[in-house]
Amino acid sequence: MRLSQNITKTLKDAPADEQATNAKLLIRGGFIHKEMAGAYSYLPLGLQVIENIKTVVREEMNALGASELLMTSLQAKDSWVISGRWSDELVDIWFKSQLKNGTEVGFGWSHEEPIMMMAKSLVKSYRDLPISVYQFQTKFRNELRAKSGIMRGREFIMKDMYAFSRSADELNEFYERTKEAYLKVYKRIGLGDNTFVTFASGGSFTQFSHEFQTVTDSGEDTIYLDRSKRLAVNEEVYNDEILAQLGMKKDHLEKVKAAEVGNIFNFGSIKGEQMDVYFNDQSGQRQPVYLSSYGIGVSRLMGVIAEHFNDQRGLIWPTNIAPAMVYLLAIGNSKTIEAADKLYNILTARGVAVIYDDRDVRPGEKFSDADLMGIPWRVVVSEQFIKNGLYEVKSRSNNTPQQLRADALIKLVKSGNLKRAS
Ligand code: ATP
Ligand code: MG
Repeated sequence: MRLSQNITKTLKDAPADEQATNAKLLIRGGFIHKEMAGAYSYLPLGLQVIENIKTVVREEMNALGASELLMTSLQAKDSWVISGRWSDELVDIWFKSQLKNGTEVGFGWSHEEPIMMMAKSLVKSYRDLPISVYQFQTKFRNELRAKSGIMRGREFIMKDMYAFSRSADELNEFYERTKEAYLKVYKRIGLGDNTFVTFASGGSFTQFSHEFQTVTDSGEDTIYLDRSKRLAVNEEVYNDEILAQLGMKKDHLEKVKAAEVGNIFNFGSIKGEQMDVYFNDQSGQRQPVYLSSYGIGVSRLMGVIAEHFNDQRGLIWPTNIAPAMVYLLAIGNSKTIEAADKLYNILTARGVAVIYDDRDVRPGEKFSDADLMGIPWRVVVSEQFIKNGLYEVKSRSNNTPQQLRADALIKLVKSGNLKRAS
């Protein structure tokens, strides 16, 4: 994209009321716009990052055999009354409204109950199972505090997946495969090293739910981490008895701050029984459907990545989710601009996503915006090198530039690009 024709604009300062590093950097870099506390709009570059995260998640969920759907944000009260979770005492983050005729409706903060109602009408026989579905959905939660930028929104993007199984064993098998798929997701988007499976509360059928916690000072959770085992315990369930039960040793544990980037739940047959979702097994017996549910905080992940990958000059996107691979700019005159135009066309034709800074501003401003936006490769077209057909290429995370011809440049830029949407 040509920067001169795009709405993207970097800012000198973030809003004064913004405290979180992720929001400050993302607002200054032109990725998001703050509507109000806990509500952010995604500008073109921010949306591209979200889409790149979604691509990775989608590929891993599809590999599990799950299929994508899209449910409504507007939810009927009935299904939530059955489970008791319509109650504002039990669920303190509901946004609710009313139709003109007074009928109450809710804005989806989760889709567990609605998906059970859908399953009730679609799943009849053991032949219909097992089945798993997922969506990328805007969730609404009336959070008490929203000071963590896009890491805690009142409106945010979640990937939620629901699996319907015929037995505890069938559920467990899928649950374990999903755990592995989640770890692959975090690895592919650059958070593999510091994201850990964590025992947490919220289990109903099982004693624990499993969270995926990324170690970061900006996180709102505290976990006790055994780095060598790559396992952790959330402080909410941390005590001597639990540690003994999990075979974890107190003196191997580090107390660290972390951000919950995913959470998976085994409901067993509880929800099926509660909401009357049954299937006929092979011998014609009525059996409750087994439910498990799997969330990933897509927009929170973008925030965690912004917190983790930055320096004093700005963001440093991991290549797999960067909004573009190259930040291209020309220094000087009509000759270099002509050469930059040409290179822009070549790169674009070869499938390299480029931000072409063709604005009429000083080079210094372009250089600092390239750094602030955190694009993996900066390519400068200057008179000095262009006469030999060379471009100056520099990685955002390394200060040594190299001079390359177009072909070598494309090869270099594509080599770090493991797999992404075309
Ligand atoms: P938290 O404890 O942070 O409030 P939660 O346990 O209520 O989160 P879940 O219901 O498990 O959240 O939702 C699944 C995932 O959605 C979480 O693991 C997290 O990554 C993300 N998420 C939850 N709440 C928010 C929010 N307010 N803003 C952004 N992402 C969120
Ligand atoms: Mg959770």
